[in-house]
Amino acid sequence: MNTNKRDMTMSIDKGQIVGTIVGIIPSMLVVILYYQLWRKDITDALLIFDNIVIDILLYIAILVTLIIIHEVLHCVGFLTCKEVQLKDVKIDVWWKKLTPFATCSKAVDIRTYRFSIMLPTVILGILPVLYALLTGNNFVMLYAIIMLASGGGDMAVMWMLRKEKRGVTVKDHPTKMGCELYDSI
Ligand SMILES: [Zn+2]
Repeated sequence: MNTNKRDMTMSIDKGQIVGTIVGIIPSMLVVILYYQLWRKDITDALLIFDNIVIDILLYIAILVTLIIIHEVLHCVGFLTCKEVQLKDVKIDVWWKKLTPFATCSKAVDIRTYRFSIMLPTVILGILPVLYALLTGNNFVMLYAIIMLASGGGDMAVMWMLRKEKRGVTVKDHPTKMGCELYDSI
């Protein structure tokens, strides 16, 4: 079977800029909506203990945990594809950019790829945002909007793939943001 390969990537530098813009816009809108609904300052959720040092350490610990869960969820998404095994997925860090990432060395169908790309932002961002909008839970809202914003790069990749149809095979790019697409001819 012949295949036609297409590049759907951007450099990490460009990806970070685009991802930040794509992530910040929905997060800002949510913050405004939340304030309109509940009149609460979400930064109050940073102050839990009387000790600012403990509050900062707690904030960092929660954030690091959520970032790790975000990458694990990408891997879980990839693993829903029958052909993908645990050895095919990995979590690593671009130390120069201090950016963690998950990648899959096997090509998957585009449905699996989209699912894997969006899973962390849905579970850690969109669903908790909806919960916090309904309940006024400041603590959940604070971390939900951070995770929504940090899903900007993933949302940008989803946007790049918006016109792709079923039947396309996708291979995650190991050193750039995005993927390579293979059309069967
Ligand atoms: Zn991600």
